[in-house]
Amino acid sequence: MSFTTFGLSAPILDAVAEQGYDTPTPIQSKAIPPAMQGKDVMAAAQTGTGKTASFALPILEKLAKGKPVEANHVRALVLAPTRELAAQVAESIATYGKHLPLRSAVVYGGVKINPQMMKLRKGIDILVATPGRLLDLYQQNAVKFKQLEVLVLDEADRMLDMGFIDDIRKILALLPKQRQNLMFSATFSDEIRNLAKGLVNHPVEISISPQNTTATTIKQWVHPVDKKQKPALLTDLIHHNKWEKVLVFTKTKKGANQLVKYLHNENIKAAAIHGDKSQAVRTKTLADFKLTDAKKGSVKILVATDVAARGLDIEQLPQVVNFDLPIVAEDYIHRIGRTGRAGMKGQAVSLVSADEFKQLTDIERLIKQLLPRKLVDGFEPNHNVPESKLDLRPLKPKKPKKPKTAGKSGPKGQPHSEGSPSGKKPGTKNKKSGGLNLQPRKKSSS
Ligand code: AMP
Repeated sequence: MSFTTFGLSAPILDAVAEQGYDTPTPIQSKAIPPAMQGKDVMAAAQTGTGKTASFALPILEKLAKGKPVEANHVRALVLAPTRELAAQVAESIATYGKHLPLRSAVVYGGVKINPQMMKLRKGIDILVATPGRLLDLYQQNAVKFKQLEVLVLDEADRMLDMGFIDDIRKILALLPKQRQNLMFSATFSDEIRNLAKGLVNHPVEISISPQNTTATTIKQWVHPVDKKQKPALLTDLIHHNKWEKVLVFTKTKKGANQLVKYLHNENIKAAAIHGDKSQAVRTKTLADFKLTDAKKGSVKILVATDVAARGLDIEQLPQVVNFDLPIVAEDYIHRIGRTGRAGMKGQAVSLVSADEFKQLTDIERLIKQLLPRKLVDGFEPNHNVPESKLDLRPLKPKKPKKPKTAGKSGPKGQPHSEGSPSGKKPGTKNKKSGGLNLQPRKKSSS
């Protein structure tokens, strides 16, 4: 199957081709046709499956034909649970729509509202938003829904986990009844079905079997090693496995810089990407990294911190290394979601020292599996990483979202993670996987 079979117009097909996609992913093959026919769709699909294009392309096609957007109005609304996902989705929409005269934008909590109000003034064809901030904008008359034609609920299960149900219901009540609804969720729990009842009309239900998702394509393991030996072990792994393109995660910016310096001394081309680097430098570094195969001497190893790695869209990345384990277990899922995308094979290797045992067990508890361990000859640790046992106790359920109060500081009515690019705040424990095949979760416990 090719994208041309969907009946998409040339500007969209061109943008897709420029991304290098030639075959639709399973979710795209199943969701695009009914969505193009204007039907409601309910799809079980995780991040990493290509789901964004599966709703973005039909929406772009539909909006390219209709009436222009009026001031402060939106024609399609995509609701997403977190700032990171919202930003990522908005970026994809901008990419797929780059040859169309449509405006898209993203709004989320935790940042100033005024620039977002300004953005909305002229009207926005496709708005990606987190629920709390959208309601704030609505209350300030900055956004109007009279022209709304399509609603997308992205990662619906995660939105419920994060306590957004009331906000979602409030938003639904503001939207025109006559609209197309597209709902995406990693799982179809009873709670999701309940929400869907008041949302979608005779939806086409789509489910992507696990073997087609990113999940099963990521191989993960741990190399236990002493902290001091990590740079040498990484060097050894790079040489030994002939890794050509590796995304390495460190906990801190300083750690990233030190590692790059170490690798340079070992004659390995590396560059760091983190919050102290300007956007221009980050963009250039990333471009160099992407060029690795084509251009001799370009960056082979990209060392990133979690915050900087958000939104990095590097296709076909075969190898991710956790030089340090993340402090927040959910970041592990985000990190390894950088590999094995859209059905590509990927490997995620973690270098774990004894002091990181707690982080390791937190991760294993979150992903509900023990990570296999492999000792590397010559790098056996003096400080043992204790054996871990899988902790199957449910993770703490989310606290229900506090009702909004006027004058509250911080992102009004939003869980903290929304305003924090790292998501390293309390209240994010239940984050859904970014492309990892987690076991089906109990609705309130995982
Ligand atoms: P998503 O699940 O929408 O976050 O997409 C995951 C990744 O797959 C993104 O990096 C997309 O750029 C990429 N992608 C989406 N559709 C395709 C496709 N048909 N072929 C190859 N890559 C794709």
